[in-house]
Amino acid sequence: MEAMVERIFPNWSRTLGAMARRPLHVRSRCVGCGIQLRVDATELCAVHGPSATLIDRIDRCAVVGCDGAIYYEVSLPFRQSWIRLVNKPALNELIETEAATPVTAPLIRDRRACP
Ligand SMILES: [Zn+2]
Repeated sequence: MEAMVERIFPNWSRTLGAMARRPLHVRSRCVGCGIQLRVDATELCAVHGPSATLIDRIDRCAVVGCDGAIYYEVSLPFRQSWIRLVNKPALNELIETEAATPVTAPLIRDRRACP
């Protein structure tokens, strides 16, 4: 039997309702293409309800042509570190070993500048 280690997430990151009440940053990251997108926690709270959580939530990537899966990360303003909202050990291992390199707008701009 696999040992289950429960990660501890801050209270403000456990539900969409708690996240919507705080000024924080939420982003999605695609395992397939690496694209990171800003996420509006208030908007997701309106769609899924205040008791819904992003912890271990996997959605489809919204990038055209990508069939990858996205997971979520959260950070408080003015903090450099992001908390990966993934608790399942198998999912964390998959992300660590298989996930594409994170892609941000400056990286895309730099790629375009190369011949
Ligand atoms: Zn993708």
